[in-house]
Amino acid sequence: MQANIVLLPGDGIGPEIVAEAEKVIGEIGRIFSHDFRLSHGEIGGCAIDKYGDPLPDSTLETCRTADAILLGAVGGPKWDDPNAKTRPEVGLLKIRKELELFANLRPIKPHRTLIEASPLKRDIIEGVDILFVRELTGGVYFGDSELREEQGQEVALNEMIYRTNEIERVVRVAAKAAMQRSQSLTSVDKANVLEVSRLWRRVSQDVVSREYSDLNYDVVLVDAMAMHLITRPRDFDVVVTGNLFGDILTDEASVLPGSLGLLPSASLGEDGPGLYEPIHGSAPDIAGQGIANPLATILATAMMFQHSLELPQEAELIEKAVEQVLDAGHRTADIAAGTESISTSQMGQKVIEAINAIA
Ligand code: NAD
Repeated sequence: MQANIVLLPGDGIGPEIVAEAEKVIGEIGRIFSHDFRLSHGEIGGCAIDKYGDPLPDSTLETCRTADAILLGAVGGPKWDDPNAKTRPEVGLLKIRKELELFANLRPIKPHRTLIEASPLKRDIIEGVDILFVRELTGGVYFGDSELREEQGQEVALNEMIYRTNEIERVVRVAAKAAMQRSQSLTSVDKANVLEVSRLWRRVSQDVVSREYSDLNYDVVLVDAMAMHLITRPRDFDVVVTGNLFGDILTDEASVLPGSLGLLPSASLGEDGPGLYEPIHGSAPDIAGQGIANPLATILATAMMFQHSLELPQEAELIEKAVEQVLDAGHRTADIAAGTESISTSQMGQKVIEAINAIA
């Protein structure tokens, strides 16, 4: 097949980890005789430095015509001045909005050899395999806001808003994913208090009963879900929720495997390219040292093959290769727990060798 893939390395460790993912894409292309056309663009702090804009039009246009986008990370102390005209993160929010990437997928699956790194006890974390689907372009983050004076008091207002179609489309993404996994979907809301959640619950129940009646479907309140994630995370398969609750729950869930450098994510729209990235940031504290863990970005590449390029065999090969590398005990410093560690590029090379050994 032929596919146009845009690489947006970004800031900090972004260029180092995306370089390893790029080698993996090249190797998969070679093994399966795919014609992957790669182009590079700027986003975040490096784009502010060059264009004064964290998402220049040139980057956005290249992304619009792509089949898939792989992003490293953005941000760093250099661009942290609160009085600055713009910030690197603005580029991220804008690309999600412009490409209508409304569904954010985050798999949470601790690796079996890294269970001890989890803050949870082995018997609670072992076997956890959750896919979070967070609505990404609506809700309170995109509603109107206001700060005003009222009778000598400052009053701040944020509007939390969801429309039927926004709920339907993200629930469909989650339901489809659940159909391909254990056929179990949990919708998280706060329907005992919020009107917007009552709509969310009604619409998501309608979508599931109309279109996915085979699914084992459940609803859980967000406060209860925050507890269940710590006490019985193994009981959940696919979890779908709105933007605000998803932001908080996915961050909570991301610490459960104990290794930030291993977790990928995907942001998908109705059609058009998906955006794939590691969930961690630009790690300025270790940037340029060649010690960052590239595995989350490599696993994001596997998600790209799965979802945007519809190449599940290639995706599975990458995932298996990463598993094999970890099983063999290869570790970058962040997951080495004081034992011997290898560099970013050595880890990338180990994955390439494993891909070839399995293929
Ligand atoms: P971070 O995820 O960058 O780093 C947190 C800790 O984890 C650091 O000690 C870092 O060294 C380590 N770490 C992260 N990724 C790693 C990897 N692949 N290998 C080894 N160690 C890794 O979070 P932070 O320090 O809070 O933020 C740093 C910058 O990143 C900030 O400017 C923040 O705004 C930005 N950020 C960007 C994104 C994104 O681009 N999607 C997400 C989160 C934070």
